[in-house]
Amino acid sequence: MGYPKISINLDKLEENVKKIIDKLQRNNLNVMGITKAFACEKEIVQLFKNNGINMVGDSRILNLKKIEDFDIEKVLIRIPMISSVEDVVKYSTISLNSELKTIEALNEAGKKQNKIHGIILMVELGDLREGFLPEELEEVALKISKLDYIKIRGIGTNFSCIGGIIPDINKINQLTQLTETIEKKLNMKMEIVSGGNSSSYHLIGEVPLKRINNIRMGEGILLGRETAFGENIEGCHEDSFILQGEIVEIKNKKTVPYGKKGMDAFGKKPEFKDRGIRKRAILAIGKQDFDCDSLYPLDKGAEIIGASSDHLVVDISDSDKEYEIGDIMEFQMGYGALLRGMTSIYIDKEFKKKKAK
Ligand SMILES: *Cc1c(COP(=O)(O)O)cnc(C)c1O
Repeated sequence: MGYPKISINLDKLEENVKKIIDKLQRNNLNVMGITKAFACEKEIVQLFKNNGINMVGDSRILNLKKIEDFDIEKVLIRIPMISSVEDVVKYSTISLNSELKTIEALNEAGKKQNKIHGIILMVELGDLREGFLPEELEEVALKISKLDYIKIRGIGTNFSCIGGIIPDINKINQLTQLTETIEKKLNMKMEIVSGGNSSSYHLIGEVPLKRINNIRMGEGILLGRETAFGENIEGCHEDSFILQGEIVEIKNKKTVPYGKKGMDAFGKKPEFKDRGIRKRAILAIGKQDFDCDSLYPLDKGAEIIGASSDHLVVDISDSDKEYEIGDIMEFQMGYGALLRGMTSIYIDKEFKKKKAK
């Protein structure tokens, strides 16, 4: 297809997986490899599996369908829609849940398909996205334990999503306490205690994680960054995924738009600083393709000016490179760009791997 393209370096990605798995294992933690940011591309799931990840999570059934034939634990990590319980039971082995009514519907679907569906009870601990309230958990868990086609596989919580609340020792204690209360009440042992996402990474090896034995990791593995503070994970690559776009125009232009001022293409009124005449490149990539807000040029002399639906404008005046029409510029991506880019039909994907070692 050509450009724009996301080039995926599977060797770098594999090194990230190895580094992270190693640290988790040394701390008695399992990882749930989160696949939504790459739309569950089989190549990467296979790489996960080859390196010892035996549980993957995605927010969309459509993505999990792609790995229907994979012998791996498949977790639906978005609270299931009650209208989709049949597919949830069919394509995932476990789902994260916070509504009794939906869990009862999953039970019915399980009965029809003669399949026991696992659930992880999500509990709200401050980030204010999904989760049962701690005070309702005991009663609800008791009801769920009576359903024939549902098995409680674990308990979990979410951080750093809507509320930007990062996990700490208090939250760990709370989750541990809740786990033990439910275990006592139901006379069972929780198999999975899932203590958050890449934003929990900085705690590993630093504080006792008590009963937490599972971390859900997407961004950490893919972009080599923990997400509580946005710092690089030591020894991990941040450039396993590179966006490549093609230059379609290069001209010296003014830096401040001229003429009568109204709104831009997205209803905003942008302000520009006058920097005189600057050399600008236009790339054939824009907001219809993906999220241009978290893009970082590899060429340190290049600076992104803005994007419309189909065009990305980059100031290249300070670059050491002499760009020409048809040249390719490369960018590192933030999570938003990666998520949108990997799922975009307008962006080609290329998997790169050195020959078998
Ligand atoms: C997306 C998601 C994750 C992964 O978060 P990262 O920051 O990419 O590690 C974990 N859990 C749930 C429920 C998610 O939706």
